Amino acid sequence: MKFILNQEVMAIDESLGNSTLDFLRKKGMKGVKEACHEGECGVCMVLLGTLKDKNVEYKAVTSCILPLGEIVGKHVVTIEGLNQEKLSPIQQALVDEGASQCGFCTPGFVVSLTGFFLNEKLEKKDILTSIEGNLCRCGAYAAIIRSTEKLAEEISVEDKTSQERILKLIEIGILPAYFADIADQLEKLKESSEANLLEKGNYVAGATDLLVQNESLSNPIFLSEKKLSGISLDGDYIYIGATTTMEDIRISEKLNSLFDTEQHMSLVSALPVRLQATLGGNLVNASPIGDLIIYFLALDAEISLKNKKDRRIIKLRDFYKDYKLMDIEEGEIVEWLRIKNKEKLFNFEKVARRKYMDIASVNSAISFDLINDKIQNAHLSAGGVAPVPKYLEKTSKFLENKKISEDVLKEAVKIADSEISPIDDVRGTARYKRLLLRQLIYAHFLTLFPKLEVSL
Ligand SMILES: Cc1cc2nc3c(=O)[nH]c(=O)nc-3n(C[C@H](O)[C@H](O)[C@H](O)COP(=O)(O)OP(=O)(O)OC[C@H]3O[C@@H](n4cnc5c(N)ncnc54)[C@H](O)[C@@H]3O)c2cc1C
Repeated sequence: MKFILNQEVMAIDESLGNSTLDFLRKKGMKGVKEACHEGECGVCMVLLGTLKDKNVEYKAVTSCILPLGEIVGKHVVTIEGLNQEKLSPIQQALVDEGASQCGFCTPGFVVSLTGFFLNEKLEKKDILTSIEGNLCRCGAYAAIIRSTEKLAEEISVEDKTSQERILKLIEIGILPAYFADIADQLEKLKESSEANLLEKGNYVAGATDLLVQNESLSNPIFLSEKKLSGISLDGDYIYIGATTTMEDIRISEKLNSLFDTEQHMSLVSALPVRLQATLGGNLVNASPIGDLIIYFLALDAEISLKNKKDRRIIKLRDFYKDYKLMDIEEGEIVEWLRIKNKEKLFNFEKVARRKYMDIASVNSAISFDLINDKIQNAHLSAGGVAPVPKYLEKTSKFLENKKISEDVLKEAVKIADSEISPIDDVRGTARYKRLLLRQLIYAHFLTLFPKLEVSL
């Protein structure tokens, strides 16, 4: 099995479940640094280029939690593959603004910013988003932000297709000339990318959870091969394929026409993780504070579970039985999730110790219709307050047919408090989490009804 590392076709001579970072460093790519090995800090950032309809689409991802199976047939670019005789405009901007101090994080920043200019789905306003997954321990953020703002002002590649962008970026010195031939070379490697389909093994989606929990993945079956990604409309439903990434959910036009998905999903990890992590991985990882689970529980989602012969459709709220215990049989995969294609009042809230890149202490979402001033079809969910991502059934039922008022809100908070069983852990004491959920329920109503008067 082969891939292209910078300009060179290379064979993968170890297990496909191993981390790409470890492999790259063994191959002498020392510009790809190692620090957290958990996808948190961005020093191991690489560009991953995938051939799509004869074009190469690139994204910047953390190589520490990228399994080798995901690079087969693709283009991996390290800082070594971006370096040229003279500094690129990105490197120069960082130098000009004094944005590199000890320099350990600098390659990661250069790769992420190169990824920003290559990514057709990102706009100028997203340039800072593109480096939200890069940490600088020297704290040179002010200078880094100045350089990125300067770059956004000076370089414009918007409205260009991926191939046009590549040519333009070569012209202005951001990319070396060899990028122009990568699409043809990947075309020739195509057959080798189909060789990693196992019959039996362990499902791997984005691996952003799996490669944090395990040093290497044994017998991986890569779900990205199964073509389960995409967001589509069919009849009364919006279908989201299990391998759709968090970032594709964030920027989906369809979802944003109904909810403020772009803003809500910006609170979920940071761009490099969102570009890899999938909906199915979030659902089956079954973390009691999984953001996507909480989001879609409140939209009364259904999921399809499929094995070789059959498919069954269940409510997402019936999927979770106990801590990390789900209604899923061996051999079954989550195929898709669907929600009604209908406008609703909806809100998502999350409290974490850091705004980005962090798991919530408590998160919550709510949806309902307002008919003749009365709440109908209410669904409220909360994470971090029980062994499972919690669908607050009693509170949801209580809200039915009620008019919005301070008394109703206070009663809802009381019922919600009786439905949860938080524990003390690193994300806060049980008491603190109860308080947070109360505040988040208030936040839902105050966001949806800013004129509502509530004494806290
Ligand atoms: C730096 C960092 C920040 C993070 N921040 C957040 C955050 O803010 N919010 C949050 O919710 N999570 C966060 N996470 C956690 C996690 O990465 C996500 O929950 C992610 O969605 C997992 O998806 P994945 O595709 O990477 O799953 P994987 O790691 O590939 O898989 C996870 C589990 O799901 C199974 N699986 C995957 N897809 C399917 C399927 N279709 N059918 C059956 N089984 C399947 C796998 O076998 C595995 O057991 C973060 C992780 C990191 C590393």
